[in-house]
Amino acid sequence: LTAACGSGASTSTAANAQSPSQQAQGSAAGQKVGVAMPTKSSERWIRDGNNMKEQLEKLGYTVDLQYAEDDVQAQVSQIENMITGGAKCLVIASIDSSALVNVLAEAKKNNIPVIAYDRLLMDTDAVSYYATFDNKGVGTLIGKFIEEKMGLKEGKGPYNIELFAGSPDDNNAHFLNAGAMEVLKPYIDNGKLKVLSGQTEFDKICTLRWSQETAQKRMEDILSGYYSTGKNVDIVLSPFDGISYGIAAALEGAGYKVGTKWPVITGQDAETMAIKNIKSGKQTMTVFKDTRVLAAKCVTMVQAVMEGKKPEINDEKSYNNGKLVVPSYLCKPVAITKDNIQKELIDSNYYKESDIS
Ligand code: BGC
Repeated sequence: LTAACGSGASTSTAANAQSPSQQAQGSAAGQKVGVAMPTKSSERWIRDGNNMKEQLEKLGYTVDLQYAEDDVQAQVSQIENMITGGAKCLVIASIDSSALVNVLAEAKKNNIPVIAYDRLLMDTDAVSYYATFDNKGVGTLIGKFIEEKMGLKEGKGPYNIELFAGSPDDNNAHFLNAGAMEVLKPYIDNGKLKVLSGQTEFDKICTLRWSQETAQKRMEDILSGYYSTGKNVDIVLSPFDGISYGIAAALEGAGYKVGTKWPVITGQDAETMAIKNIKSGKQTMTVFKDTRVLAAKCVTMVQAVMEGKKPEINDEKSYNNGKLVVPSYLCKPVAITKDNIQKELIDSNYYKESDIS
């Protein structure tokens, strides 16, 4: 069944004494991979987890898939349990990307390679590879969508815009914001985009844990504080579909109606609810990140660290985690509007028609 690597029936004791490169020979059968995901509260992570499990199991690996419901300490414990439970490789989508330093050092001490999934693991030298999307590119897509939709290049405006960013402890949130602001800041500077709340800095617009409730509350405060005198918010930059739902709820609460002066609202993840909202006009765009593709790339990294293969890498410079520049593969995000739901999401079999109607 198994060759030299790891917990195969005949070699388990010997394998523990081997170096990672010695362990790297042989097939996957029975090798345990720990997959730590942040939360089931958002659809994408459920798909990510399922895709990883399915693709790894197809190759013969055993998978320990855990969700930590956005509880940082729970994720630390789950990873500790994976280490003591005999995982030979860890795949981690972190909740707080800097909070895992100690447990990752523990993995390293035990010769367990670690792959960062979607979110970079910060401040650690224990990470081998990073599979993700072009996170700055997600922001660029959002910024360019707003620029085009509103005719900013043609000099149209001024418009009132409010800005939201993701969780400050998630490196992706910073990359996304940088990508969006690169496109939009010139229009804020020249007055074609006005932020009536004055909240433009990351630390003012970020949303801890990407929380829908927190976003809704902030949007309610913005609407009552800065838009009470008949002023209309024309655009809301949202970095995540969950945040978009909170924004929409706040707008409805303040009397906005879809179809009449309802703002352009962006998003990320192409959740089924967001697609329904795009169809009904409640949301205007989202960014699709095909979790099947991401999982497939990540699996090549698992194979690489376990079997001595070399995974495909397409970025060796963008993701410095404070300790090293992590060799990365960046998948390509796609902007979704009413016009390409069919092509990108249905024709590609990501969703069934019934999922989004
Ligand atoms: C992911 C996004 C997701 C967000 C909230 C980010 O790290 O890259 O796809 O929308 O977390 O879960």
